[in-house]
Amino acid sequence: MAQLYEQRLDKLLSFGMEEKLAKTAARNEKVYSSTLEALKSASFVNDGSQQTKNKCLLLYNAVIHPKLPLTNRNSLFLMIGDERIKTKAQLDAAIEFLVSIGEEKVEESILEQQAGVGVIVTKEDICERVKTVLDENHNQVQMKGSHTNVGLLVKQVLSSLRFADAKLVRLEVERQLQDLLNHLSLSDKDEEENVDPFAGIPNIMAARDLETARNTPELLERHRLATGGKVICRFPPEPNGFLHIGHAKSMFLNFGYAQKENGICILRYDDTNPEAEREEFIKSIEESVKWLGYEPSKITFTSDYFDQLYELAVELIKRDKAYVCHLKPDEISQYREKKQDSPWRNRPIEESLTLFEDMKFGKFEEGAATLRMKIDMQHPNPCMQDPIAYRIRYKRHPHSGDRWCIYPSYDFAHCIVDSLEWITHSLCTLEFEIRRDSYYWLLAALDMYRPFVWEFSRLVVTHTVVSKRKLTFLVDKGYVRGWDDPRMPTLMGLRRRGFPPEALRKFCASVGVTRGDNLIGFHKLENACRTCLDPQVFRRMCVLEPLKVVIENLPKDHIEWLQVPNHPKDEGKGTHKSPFTKEVYIEKSDFRLQDEKDFFGLAPGKVSLVSFSSLVFTYILLFPCQKTVLLRYAYPITAKDIKWSAEDPCRIESVVVSYDPDKTQKPKGVLHWVASNQFSTSVEVRLYNNLFLSEQPGLIKGDAWLDDINPESEVVKENALLEYDAAQNINPGDIFQFERLGFFCCDKDSTIPTRVVFNRTVTLKGIR
Ligand code: ATP
Ligand code: MG
Repeated sequence: MAQLYEQRLDKLLSFGMEEKLAKTAARNEKVYSSTLEALKSASFVNDGSQQTKNKCLLLYNAVIHPKLPLTNRNSLFLMIGDERIKTKAQLDAAIEFLVSIGEEKVEESILEQQAGVGVIVTKEDICERVKTVLDENHNQVQMKGSHTNVGLLVKQVLSSLRFADAKLVRLEVERQLQDLLNHLSLSDKDEEENVDPFAGIPNIMAARDLETARNTPELLERHRLATGGKVICRFPPEPNGFLHIGHAKSMFLNFGYAQKENGICILRYDDTNPEAEREEFIKSIEESVKWLGYEPSKITFTSDYFDQLYELAVELIKRDKAYVCHLKPDEISQYREKKQDSPWRNRPIEESLTLFEDMKFGKFEEGAATLRMKIDMQHPNPCMQDPIAYRIRYKRHPHSGDRWCIYPSYDFAHCIVDSLEWITHSLCTLEFEIRRDSYYWLLAALDMYRPFVWEFSRLVVTHTVVSKRKLTFLVDKGYVRGWDDPRMPTLMGLRRRGFPPEALRKFCASVGVTRGDNLIGFHKLENACRTCLDPQVFRRMCVLEPLKVVIENLPKDHIEWLQVPNHPKDEGKGTHKSPFTKEVYIEKSDFRLQDEKDFFGLAPGKVSLVSFSSLVFTYILLFPCQKTVLLRYAYPITAKDIKWSAEDPCRIESVVVSYDPDKTQKPKGVLHWVASNQFSTSVEVRLYNNLFLSEQPGLIKGDAWLDDINPESEVVKENALLEYDAAQNINPGDIFQFERLGFFCCDKDSTIPTRVVFNRTVTLKGIR
């Protein structure tokens, strides 16, 4: 029986089917044979790619459909095989059609039409349709705010964009909905105030299902005496990289929960692995924690406890709960697979004590001996199969120097240090859930106080990676300007880009404590940033790609000092002076030779052509129509002439305009601008976009994630012009809103006054 199942499984896998799916399909004979028939009829080659897996999945979905008629099956399978049908939406449409016609034979071309073969739904189509649906649901959104049912909106969009990628539609709905909510001021603020982001953390007194997790009354009493009954949390980063946005969530929970409960939170460097840990990282972590606004009650290092940890390891051996083992790492894995005891497991206690001391005194080579906890090699949880407690590393430790050549493992050190620090709540990410058993086993084995362990999901933000290994790679190989590159999801990167710490805290509050999937759109972080910056920062004008405009009806040396508000929505923020001169600069993209109905920039007077016919002649009349645009905070201007460059006849040297001093003409659009060179400063502006093109680059297998780096993640405008006032007294870290462009932060690469560099923090989307 089992053999038959294995044979079926192998067969399905040979077509390139995903293992989990293959296992399901192999279990049932009927399903297996119809799946196999479909895979064969689809006649494709297994190239091990994602596309092949997708084909198998579609074919499987087709055959398990209870009503799929027999007649046109083969055509359907072929269309999946050669990728005419690529999505579930297409498949559903095809099946729906086939079911409706029953056993009648149809031409493939008709089936293709029904399945939307060749229909391309672009991002723009999705954007447009989402916009319409949101408009139609405006009242609902206004009423329900952030509790609007996203699924229903997605369904509505898909009902008229049948073949659109449902995942893209969902992301777009979320993005536009968030923008709309910001605009409606039904922002996260309400959510933060109304919903407790820590509500998910269960009560510490909740029943502990593990026997070993329960504290004795004596331990509880000792804990109460030591802490006065306070909540004590800890944030335990390993100093092997800079902190990132995921750590912000962890800090928000640990520091935030302690704060909420009037407790304290310790910053603990979990420095048990001397290999990747560096002083530079220790410093940056402390800076990041403080920048984010958290004050640790104290800063500790796991290495501070190396002496106690060693003593406790000796105690564990004495209790016959640990032994020195000489198996190599791969042998340990093999023994675990076979659930077989190590040959050293039952050596005498005295022998292990001597050998452990020998390990400490450097009498072994690296890898020649480890200390292992004696738990249970038969345990179904591999973390309980005699995990390693100590290993040998001849490597200088950034904190304890050369004192030790044996280092405790995470499994040994983490729970013990939690207990020594009397931590009440040990909050960690879900990948540690499997280690909960050994966490409590060890504390019980040593009769130590047992903190309350609770796991939450890792935060993953779209279009970026948060694995420290990958971030280190990006830095070491020069893909970015360092750990604090403004594209990096590190806290120092986000700070350099201009994100205020309160935006990150706000973002974490909206994410809350979850144990479910935690993939969050980067746009949510951007929205939090806009909401924080918008009411605070001063407005200035900056032109990224300047085009000269000469005002013909102004004298040569004309200067008018305009009083311009620092913040148009907040009079209290005062005004600044902005010079209006005969020559000004506007954005190149705000000028077009050919005017269009939906273009709100400057364009030469358009000539309208009107024709009408009598019996004999056709009359053509030309009507020049003058278009006027407003230079923000100044005057309306109208294009009169274009001066072409003498060297390059295709390049516009300048646009000649007339201005309307009485402001009587009604402008069609409003442009940002800066005054002539002498009253503006040349600056370098770095425009930042997503670092990766795909939503979840972290899921890309092998080295291909590097190909996903967005070539336009940084676009540099070297010759931008910044208005006069902004360039005075500027300092790195200063943030402005450049009107119509976004929020920008002065970069640390600036050497003021000779070089000024600005980073685009975020565009203005959603802010009016
Ligand atoms: P990596 O696997 O990328 O090296 P890590 O989990 O080892 O990350 P640590 O420095 O050990 O990183 O993490 C410190 C704390 O922050 C841990 O409690 C960890 O669970 C938590 N943490 C790390 N990454 C995330 C994340 N993406 N979301 C939420 N919490 C995180
Ligand atoms: Mg870690």
